[in-house]
Amino acid sequence: MKIINKNSESFLYDYLNATSPTGFEAEGQKVWLDYINPFVDESYLDDYGTAYGVINPGQDYKVVIEAHADEIAWYVNYISEDGYISVIRNGGSDHIIAPSKRVNIHTEKGVVKGVFGWPAIHVRRGKDANLSPKLENIFIDVGAKDKKEVLSMGVHVGSVVTFDDVLTKLNNRWYAGKALDNKMGGFCIAEVAKLVKKNKKKLPFSLYIVNAVQEEIGLRGAEMIAHRIKPDVAIITDVTHDTSSPLYKAKEQGDLKGGLGPVLTYAPAVHNKLLQLVIDAANKNKVPFQRSASSRTTGTDTDAFAYSNQGVPSVLISLPLKYMHTTVEMAHHDDIENVTRLIYYSLLAIKKNHNFKYF
Ligand SMILES: [Zn+2]
Repeated sequence: MKIINKNSESFLYDYLNATSPTGFEAEGQKVWLDYINPFVDESYLDDYGTAYGVINPGQDYKVVIEAHADEIAWYVNYISEDGYISVIRNGGSDHIIAPSKRVNIHTEKGVVKGVFGWPAIHVRRGKDANLSPKLENIFIDVGAKDKKEVLSMGVHVGSVVTFDDVLTKLNNRWYAGKALDNKMGGFCIAEVAKLVKKNKKKLPFSLYIVNAVQEEIGLRGAEMIAHRIKPDVAIITDVTHDTSSPLYKAKEQGDLKGGLGPVLTYAPAVHNKLLQLVIDAANKNKVPFQRSASSRTTGTDTDAFAYSNQGVPSVLISLPLKYMHTTVEMAHHDDIENVTRLIYYSLLAIKKNHNFKYF
């Protein structure tokens, strides 16, 4: 079962290259909703921008498949008199990678281009020899002569900043770029909706395909939508660390490698019987998978769903990702396909009014 074809890959590029900083996800959400609309019976948007489609609406039993739509970004926090811009994080943006990156500052007057500048290697001597990027010392240059000119360009405190980068493919095998966390998840759940429609599957429940906002600042979009939908089951997809490249520590961070399959997490927030259903679906349909363990919570929208309402059986199917929260995040083609397949086969294993009680 091939997932990524010409049509879906073109959506993947459009969606990944659309801008979706936390709190400002509309551009990406429009691309996503346009793509899934033909595969769902109904589609909705909540007030904060979480988008979702429903297949087979109106059933008492509701199953959610979910990814998060937002990408990490920065906020303009301060503009100096000579026109340099300081930032704070909007999500877990990495100050270490900022210098030398091009940025887009999103304003009412449109996108203002800028760069994160950095003093030349030649002048970093003496006590500055070990100068390293910190949140407090990185700065954006938009080519303005002073603060007044920055303001006249439309940039103000509170303007959102994203790295200016696009999706590429390496060795025809790995996708590389920014915001694969977690727009790859949005891609996978959209493809699941497409498979259900294309294969004319009659599901014994209402299926909600949810692309939630504001994960990167604390699972907030998922919290909101979990209370709105009140699902009986939630299958969440997000990214996790591929630890196979240099400087990672597999013993501490989990022994996970891109290309070897989706990652299933063991954690108190993950429902064991639902996890077993997913594992059985993987084995039955020959989808490879890897395992990881998480103390307490998973740090993903799984927690938001699991601990919502009166408790919702939830499971996490993760995509291994290299270099998370950089502009060169990398995900393996086969893993993207296998995450999609595993969500799809797991859905097909959920019976009418499926009971997840332990005994
Ligand atoms: Zn993230």
